[in-house]
Amino acid sequence: MSGKAYLIGAGPGRPDLITVRGLNLLRQADVVLYDWLVAPQLVDQARPNAVRIFVGKAHDRHTLEQDTITDLLVEYVRAGHHVARLKGGDPSVFGHVGEEAQALASAGLAFEIVPGVSSALAAPAYAGIPVTSRGYSTAFAVVTGHEAPGKADSTTDWNALAHIPTLIVLMGLHRVDLVCTTLIAAGRAASTPAAVISRATTREQRVVRATLADLPAALREANLPTPAILVIGEVVGLGATLEWFVPSLVEEGFEAFERLEQRTI
Ligand code: SAH
Repeated sequence: MSGKAYLIGAGPGRPDLITVRGLNLLRQADVVLYDWLVAPQLVDQARPNAVRIFVGKAHDRHTLEQDTITDLLVEYVRAGHHVARLKGGDPSVFGHVGEEAQALASAGLAFEIVPGVSSALAAPAYAGIPVTSRGYSTAFAVVTGHEAPGKADSTTDWNALAHIPTLIVLMGLHRVDLVCTTLIAAGRAASTPAAVISRATTREQRVVRATLADLPAALREANLPTPAILVIGEVVGLGATLEWFVPSLVEEGFEAFERLEQRTI
C-alpha cells in the first residue's frame, strides 16, 4: 500500500470548526501527528489503534524541532501509512506546511493539503469584527509578531503595514507594546480601535478592546493567556455592537460534534 500525507487544518480551537474533509481523513488515519493548538477532542476522533504523536511547538517551548517532525512525517508515509498531520487553524498560515510538503515532494511521496479555518479570520469573527466592511476597510493583512519591529533580520515592512486598513497580528502577544508604538510612529492614528482576542472560539475566549495607544496598558491589566491575536483597524470599532459569541455556549458545539461523530459525511 502506498502511503499519503494529509496536511490538515484543524481549525482555530473549537473542535467542530474543522472541515468535513479534514475530519473524514483524520478518522481514516493510521498515524496522527498533531500540534499544540489542536483541540484534544479532534485527536480523539482518530481510530483507537492509530498512532498519535504530539509534535507541538509552542512559543519558546519546542517539543520537537521542525526537521525531526518533517523526518517523522516522511518516514511514516514512506512506510505506507495514511498520515494525518493536524495543524492549528489553516496549515498554510504560519504552519510550516511549505517545508513539510517540500520534503514529501522531494522524497516522491504523495500528499494533500486540506485547508482549515485560520484563527486570523476566526478570532475576529468570534469577536464580532468583520475584517473587511464597506466604508471601513477594503483590505487586510496577516502578519507575525515574531518579526517584530527592530528585529535585526526582519523582512517585515511595518511602515507599509501601518497603512493597511485592517491589520491582524499573530504570535504577537508578547510584543504588543512594540507593535503599537511602531505603527503610531509610522503614521497610524493613536486613536485607531484595536483588540486582542485570546483563546478565540473556545469556552475561554476573552477580548480586550482599546485604542492603539492604550492597548498595551489595557493588556497589562487583563493578563490574557496565549494563544492570542491582535486586530487593528476601524472595523474593530464595529465589534462592540456586533459581539455575538457567548463562550459558555461552546457546549453546543461539543454536542454538535458528538452528533457528527455518529456518521461520516
Ligand atoms: N496556522 C495557524 C496559525 C499558527 S501561528 C492558523 O491559521 O490559525 C500560532 C498563532 O496563531 C498564535 O500565536 C496566535 O497568534 C494564533 N492563534 C491560533 N489559535 C488561536 C486562537 N484560538 N485564539 C487566538 N489566537 C490564535
